[in-house]
Amino acid sequence: MPHDLPKAYDPTAIEDHWAGTWVRENLFAVPTPTSPVPSQGPVGQPFVILLPPPNVTGRLHMGHMLNQTEMDILTRWRRMSGRLALWVPGTDHAGIATQMMVERQLTEEGTSRQKLGREAFAERVWAWKQHYGGAILEQMKRLGVSVDWSREYFTMDERLSIAVREAFVRLYAQGLIYRGAYIVNWCPRCQTAISDLEVVHQEQKGHLWEIKYPVLGDGGKETGEFITVATTRPETMLGDTAVAIHPEDERYLHLHGKKLLLPLMGREIPIVVDPWVSREFGTGAVKVTPAHDPNDFAIGERHHLPSINVMDDRAAINENGGPYQGLDRYVARKKIVADLEAQGLLVAIKEYTNNVGHCDRCKTVVEPRLSTQWFIKIQPLAEKAIAAVKPDADGNKAIRFTPENYEKIYLEWMTNIHDWCISRQLWWGHRIPAWHCGVCHKITVPQPGATGDPAACAHCGSEKITQETDVLDTWFSSGLLPVSVFGWPNFTSRTPGAPGPSHLGTGEGIEDRADFDAFYPTSLLVTGFDILFFWVARMIMLGCWFSADVPMADGSSRPLAESVPFKEVYIHALVRDANREKMSKTKGNVIDPIEIVKQYGTDAVRFTLASMASPGTDIAFNVARTEGYRAFANKIWNAARFIFMNVDRAAEAGITVDRELLGEMPAVADDAPIEARWIVAELHATAAKVNESLENYRYDEAASIIYQFFWGSFCDWYLEIVKLRLDFEGDQVVNGTEGEILSDLRGTRAALTTLVQVFECALRLLSPFMPFITEELWHAVYDGKPPATSIAFTRYPKAAGTIDNDALNAMDLVQRLIIEIRALRKETGFEERAITPVEVRTDVVYQELFAKSSPIIERLARVSNVNLVSEITAGLAKHSTPAFDVGVNPPKIDLAAERERLTKDIARYEKGLAAAERQLGNEGFLAKAPAHVVEGLKKQEAETRLLLEKARAALEALPKD
Ligand SMILES: [Zn+2]
Ligand SMILES: [Zn+2]
Repeated sequence: MPHDLPKAYDPTAIEDHWAGTWVRENLFAVPTPTSPVPSQGPVGQPFVILLPPPNVTGRLHMGHMLNQTEMDILTRWRRMSGRLALWVPGTDHAGIATQMMVERQLTEEGTSRQKLGREAFAERVWAWKQHYGGAILEQMKRLGVSVDWSREYFTMDERLSIAVREAFVRLYAQGLIYRGAYIVNWCPRCQTAISDLEVVHQEQKGHLWEIKYPVLGDGGKETGEFITVATTRPETMLGDTAVAIHPEDERYLHLHGKKLLLPLMGREIPIVVDPWVSREFGTGAVKVTPAHDPNDFAIGERHHLPSINVMDDRAAINENGGPYQGLDRYVARKKIVADLEAQGLLVAIKEYTNNVGHCDRCKTVVEPRLSTQWFIKIQPLAEKAIAAVKPDADGNKAIRFTPENYEKIYLEWMTNIHDWCISRQLWWGHRIPAWHCGVCHKITVPQPGATGDPAACAHCGSEKITQETDVLDTWFSSGLLPVSVFGWPNFTSRTPGAPGPSHLGTGEGIEDRADFDAFYPTSLLVTGFDILFFWVARMIMLGCWFSADVPMADGSSRPLAESVPFKEVYIHALVRDANREKMSKTKGNVIDPIEIVKQYGTDAVRFTLASMASPGTDIAFNVARTEGYRAFANKIWNAARFIFMNVDRAAEAGITVDRELLGEMPAVADDAPIEARWIVAELHATAAKVNESLENYRYDEAASIIYQFFWGSFCDWYLEIVKLRLDFEGDQVVNGTEGEILSDLRGTRAALTTLVQVFECALRLLSPFMPFITEELWHAVYDGKPPATSIAFTRYPKAAGTIDNDALNAMDLVQRLIIEIRALRKETGFEERAITPVEVRTDVVYQELFAKSSPIIERLARVSNVNLVSEITAGLAKHSTPAFDVGVNPPKIDLAAERERLTKDIARYEKGLAAAERQLGNEGFLAKAPAHVVEGLKKQEAETRLLLEKARAALEALPKD
């Protein structure tokens, strides 16, 4: 046993050491299975989990820390429970975020991506990634997460890029990708289309401008009549191609078929009738700008109106804007309003609160704008993605959400989903594999499975083809991860004859689906609500779609339940500050997990998060709790030092721990001392509850149960009691010829063995929550000769056999007696160290227990003698419980205090008794309540009545002053 465990617990030293070791030795690597992994049987299915890939630009925040703590607890627990556990890490290339980061650097250097050109810019981003991109993974390594680093991916890796390209060309060949001009959300700063999900809407005070458009009569002459329209974006009028009215609006019936003169532009535009127009809103006439508004675009389609885009990529007015060309949109707005006013066409300016869309990345106001983009026809994919989550006829679900309410949110969204715009006008990302022909202007997309770029137009054979400049939405590639990380679609990566990890090789070779067969579908996804639609939904759509073509390992076709990318989704909650406020930079209440880890250690921070994590409940992160769990780790450290010291002392006396028994669930003989039977029973009961809690994602329950066991039962009670048995006298061995001494020695060895066994087992129980301190102490238990390379590869404690409830009940009674004596001593003013005899009156059934346990009671309650009596001597200070009365002769009796205490007790018992009687007198309750509840209530009533009587008698017996 280690004599060299440092006196003080130093989490930083321990954690740095083990975090480094685990990564260096690639401890949690799971090689590609060389033979099929049993899908059932004793070990069960592999437990596979993907890390939601953080942005390569990211830094670790509290949300990551919670997410990774939850994933690591589950992965370690499943691994220790005998399943092959694989956790795959990686980072996302994060198109917009990364491009912005590098562009900012370029601006500082006085240059820009446009000056560099596309290729040089891409090189620059790669260089940036090489330099800074790994920061967040390095932080993860310090947290000790048990991921397989040999499988680390980056979404722009060649292997994953092949999957992205293949997914695109297959969807295109299946007629599910099209290109067209539609209204998109355009960010003029990022200069790209962004998805609806990336637009943040904010209420803003603005204006509503009312403008009148002159009506034209025959021959194009103004009739002197006007139609008034209203707009929040007057600059868009430059692109108006009609004004729409409701067909039955009586105000305008006489204008059907007439034309208007578009002010400032002098263009004739038609009046169109469309039932979509609301008669009640404003004047009932709306200007139609098909190129700058989604509703207007739809009207334009219905009436075959031209679309005139009046803005360029930076939202400045373009050549279609006449005299306003070159002006920024807001500058143009001012000038247009002024010009209208000058011409007497501005009717009114009204205050107006508007919901304005902003770019999620850069906060610029988004411009709805007509633009040619690539889209996925969502319907057949969404249908499958709905079927994967909806319960089937038998009520089974291929994917189960926790908390369950996310199932409804998901289904609602998926049911109303629109075609997905997958193109982005960025330079960083997967470039769309489509080529435009300079001659026939048609598009060439390679055939599925084809390698290399096309050399000529597939339609006219011309070699004048150029690749599409747009890149794919980042979520297109991350949506493919569950299939692509396990080798899809290129299952030919292992060199013939060479066994070994196919996930490392990229060469040509034999068809090898070993990874995919073993690990797809994954078991669980743990993620935040914020990316439910962005990512979770897309993985389900793409995963179900593409994996359906991959046969099962036995060659049969893949059912939906095996096509899904994961079988369970756990949506974790938010980490808020101690006052339940959302953490935000502007509020200045952001807690940096790395800072707090430096202060208290990873183990304490992990335990804090776990102790508050349960489905659907936000976490109010309070540093005071972390401090408390740092103290918990310290307590365990000190317990270890005490145990090791005794093991060493015992060894000197020739008594050794029975090492054969370490690593199993401890068991004890029926005639073992009460505390041994009890702590072992407690351990089994604790293990049963912890396993059940983790099964239900109740991290909080599991953490609290382990905490109570380790700190309360093990450290506070058992360690104190077991000191009684750890009396090693060297001469006993030398003179150990007498039977009595030998039996005593056997008892000491058994006590020592149980102590070490239970401690070792408790370390395993705690290990998924606090991996570092448990690793360190577990190695120390085995004195540097552990049976495995890590505690992570031992078995998780599981309850076995029947739990010894007699021992639990007996010990409970002894503990209660000790607690009552301690309370009595305190109330009656005993000196801390003073030792006193006690009188105990109890039923015959408990007398033997108290007699046998008297050494325990004496030691833990500072008692010189436990006298079992038939009646507590009058005049002693007394406490009563249903099972016993206990009395001490107090150094001084404070009569007033004693009277007050008893009076309070009496009031409390009377209240309790009345409540119980009321309930037992309620026939409605008696008819409905289960029998055991009624039984319990009756027992409680009887007990309270007894206590009440005793308290009344005690009050009566107090000397009158
Ligand atoms: Zn932007
Ligand atoms: Zn062509």
